Amino acid sequence: MTGLHAHQVVIVGGGFGGLQAALALRHAEVSVTLVDQRNFHLFQPLLYQVATGALSPANIASPLRSLVKRQANTRVLLGKAVGLDAPRKILRLADGELPYDTLIVAAGARHHYFGHPEWEAHAPGLKTIEDATSMRRRIFAAFEAAEREEDDAKRAALLTFVVVGAGPTGVELAGALAENARHTLPREFRRIDTATARILLVEAGPRVLAGFAEEHSVNAAAALAGLGVTVRISTAVVKIDDHSVVLRHGTEEELIATGTVLWGAGVQGAPIGKAVAEATAAALDRAGRIVVGVDCAIPTHPEIFVIGDLAHVGGIDAPPLPGVAPVAMQQGTYVAKLTLARLAQRTLPPFRYRDPGSMATIGRRLAVAQVGRWKLSGTLAWLAWLFVHLMALVRFENRLLVLMQWGWHYLTWNRNARLITGRDEKPTDS
Ligand SMILES: Cc1cc2nc3c(=O)[nH]c(=O)nc-3n(C[C@H](O)[C@H](O)[C@H](O)COP(=O)(O)OP(=O)(O)OC[C@H]3O[C@@H](n4cnc5c(N)ncnc54)[C@H](O)[C@@H]3O)c2cc1C
Repeated sequence: MTGLHAHQVVIVGGGFGGLQAALALRHAEVSVTLVDQRNFHLFQPLLYQVATGALSPANIASPLRSLVKRQANTRVLLGKAVGLDAPRKILRLADGELPYDTLIVAAGARHHYFGHPEWEAHAPGLKTIEDATSMRRRIFAAFEAAEREEDDAKRAALLTFVVVGAGPTGVELAGALAENARHTLPREFRRIDTATARILLVEAGPRVLAGFAEEHSVNAAAALAGLGVTVRISTAVVKIDDHSVVLRHGTEEELIATGTVLWGAGVQGAPIGKAVAEATAAALDRAGRIVVGVDCAIPTHPEIFVIGDLAHVGGIDAPPLPGVAPVAMQQGTYVAKLTLARLAQRTLPPFRYRDPGSMATIGRRLAVAQVGRWKLSGTLAWLAWLFVHLMALVRFENRLLVLMQWGWHYLTWNRNARLITGRDEKPTDS
């Protein structure tokens, strides 16, 4: 039963930031309502493993209700926030209204196609379970269609995969695709040699993993090449359709025939951010993030906090913090503490991010990690990556299941979650 307290805290989004805020309020004398359009918390860092058949969706998602079931002051509502009546302190849902005293908006981000929203139909991004299963369908349907294709050129196009964006997501996707093609699939097909699949990783900037130290970019590029991934840096995508992409490098354009393009490039704030900004006269930055003060609150509405991927903290001139889970989680804890401090007529110093370091994996025993000036690559970094990601999964049950799948995969190269499910939105036998 939900405890009854006068102060109503409403949290939009049960991702890393919102869930952390709710958990940090578990002993507080406030009523917490956690609203999400999904009934589960999603561990996005392992989405690429669902997209490439290594894990199943349920391995990386946990029902929100079960995560807060022992938290008597908290209720979970399945609902979509669509707007705000800021003067009356009412959150508008698609099918109702919720009054609040404190509102924490932690609605995350979506993909951004740099002014080409039409590319989304041809090049799915990776943010949701549906995105991951859509990628999975396209990847494995392409191999199936290639097995049946008589025409050499069409078969080659079906066995060409283009990954756009060489940040951690693009690098992880390209590496896992290469491992599928070279190690998991070969003995399963009779006509095609999956090891001949061409995997292109395209990056507009001058290096892969631009957020990491330069030596890590060099190591990652070498590791990708070793896996058989062709990396194209300083190369922009200028056109995508169902059968091809056009790349531009300097003044030269190249058309690549392909049936599968995967998007791992830009992100922008979730759509609800625009409605919140309009209702509160808050500014949005170029990536659609709401500009908030150093306390994560909207300057004109101190009772509304914005955290995580949707927030640009410290004013428009402050450099945005990286869109990573530790930022969202630390902000979730911070705004929970600040809410309680304010109720006790106290205040807190501004939010300060403590960077725990970053890591990215490329493939088996291939990863890079950096914590401050401490840098690691290869097997040790990979083991660190496995450990950190396993421990960061929110439920013990998921940790155990993922550990078992990874162990089995390590021994056999098998990826058992290679299901082609859902609607076939895009023909892959072109
Ligand atoms: C493929 C991928 C790989 C990543 N890898 C890493 C990594 O290795 N390490 C790392 O630190 N970070 C990683 N990140 C980034 C990390 O996942 C994000 O920074 C983090 O999820 C941000 O947390 P958040 O709470 O702001 O948003 P999210 O975790 O995205 O949560 C937002 C929640 O809000 C809900 N929501 C959105 N709109 C509404 C609405 N209108 N009404 C109701 N609910 C709504 C959503 O359903 C969702 O549950 C990765 C992200 C992706 C996509």
